[in-house]
This record gives sequence, C-alpha cells and structure tokens, in this order.
Amino acid sequence: MSEAPHHRIHAIRYARHERVAAENFIGGDDHASPMPLDYFVWLIERDGMAPVLVDTGFGAEAAVRRKRTMIRPVEEGIRAIGVDPASIEDVIITHLHYDHAGSLDLFPKARFHVQDDEMAFATGRSMTHKTVRAPFDAGPVAQMVHLLFGDRVVFHDGDEEFAPGITLRFLPGHTAGLQGVEVSTARGPVLLASDVAHLYANLVREMPFPIVVDVPAYLDAHKRLFELVPGIDHIIPGHDPLVLTAFPAGLAPDVSRVDLAPLQPIGDLV
Ligand SMILES: [Zn+2]
Repeated sequence: MSEAPHHRIHAIRYARHERVAAENFIGGDDHASPMPLDYFVWLIERDGMAPVLVDTGFGAEAAVRRKRTMIRPVEEGIRAIGVDPASIEDVIITHLHYDHAGSLDLFPKARFHVQDDEMAFATGRSMTHKTVRAPFDAGPVAQMVHLLFGDRVVFHDGDEEFAPGITLRFLPGHTAGLQGVEVSTARGPVLLASDVAHLYANLVREMPFPIVVDVPAYLDAHKRLFELVPGIDHIIPGHDPLVLTAFPAGLAPDVSRVDLAPLQPIGDLV
C-alpha cells in the first residue's frame, strides 16, 4: 500500500459575530462575557491535483441581513492564497446552513457534494418549522436544487472515500445530514468537523451549541470525532476563533494552516 497523501489545509476566515458565552451552550454558561464566533471556509491543497474547497460561506447580502461582520469576502480569501475561485472543480458542502452554503455563484465550474439526508432535510417537511429553518436561507437551497438539475450536485450517503486522503464522515445532529471531512496530512488525520462543534468548548464541556436538531446524535458525533482522530488537536470546529490563533499562520492574514500542529496543545487553551 502506498503511503497516505500529505494534503495541506488552509482555514480561511471571512466573517465574525460578536456574542456572549451564554449564547453558545445549551444549559451551562451564565457568563455575559464575550465569546465571538468566526466564520471559515477550508481549502484542501493537494500535490499534483486540483484543490478541494470545503463550504462556500455567505455573501455581503446575508452578512448585512443577519448582522454579521464581513472581514474579507470569501472570494478574496481564496484568491489571497493563490487560488482562483472560478477554477475550483469540487466543493464539499458540510451542511446547507446559510453560512456554509451561500455564495454558490462564485464557483461556476464546481460540482457540489452533499449528503442525501441533508438535501432531503433542507427541502422537506422539517423546514415547516420556523426555528429549524432559521439558519437556512431559501435562496441558496433553491439554487442547489437548480444546480442539481444542471448535473452539478453529487450525492453521498454516509461515510465515503471522496478521493485519496479525503474521507467524508457522516456526523448528523447539528443538522440531519451534516458531513465532516477527514483529511490525511503530514501529522496524521485532521477532521474538518464543521458544526459538529461550533467551538472547542462545546467538545470539552460536552455541551451542544444551541442550534441542534437531535441532541443524542449531536453528542454521539462528538464521541465519534475522538474515535476517528488521535485527539482534539486533530479536530477543527466550525466557528472557533482559536482555529486562527492556535495554528500556524497561513499565506495571508486571516488564514491558518490546520494541517500543521497547533503552536500549543488545544487542551491548554480551552
Ligand atoms: Zn450550521
């Protein structure tokens, strides 16, 4: 068997939401202290093969409507590390929330990879509930349906090998069909967990972030993360500002290299 590939992973921050700690946990933090969320997309860079983007972020209109601070538009963040968004051929969508699956127009050549259960969830009966649909925007969901009719959506069902050194991991709970992306790197597997946990603190305290559709499944997904990779340093949550500060700086501001080990163990920082 040939050696596992060593891919590189750029975590690209594009936006921020200032909020307090009490907003980030179900049942366990009465702090009014600041605990902001950052918004990322992740670019997997491969030797001799095209890069793979994980999630697409949101655009200017959603930022204004939802009162999020745009730090640098997604397209500029991707260009800042030397990749033309229009050239990207494969985008893995972890789930269809507005902040992970907007801005689809930026990728005119791309195929979008989603889980069967996520597409069914975002276009079905669950969306009759206002609180369940709140983190979805109808525009990008409808756009995904149009892309499906244009042969640009690829469905996946559970765990699947996506490409050498890239494995999709089915980790529902936050949504019905969330997938994480396990990437082979020089330091071993790194799991882009997306919103399986917004913050490292959700994992460490074993407390869900308040956007969750199935609490037992959500907590099972946390357990599964730790079965899949050697430890918390190998897990990249969806929205933790530590992803930018704890890992080595990347090729541009607001970019970190999460294929490399954190500068200090994550467990010391949470
Ligand atoms: Zn989400």
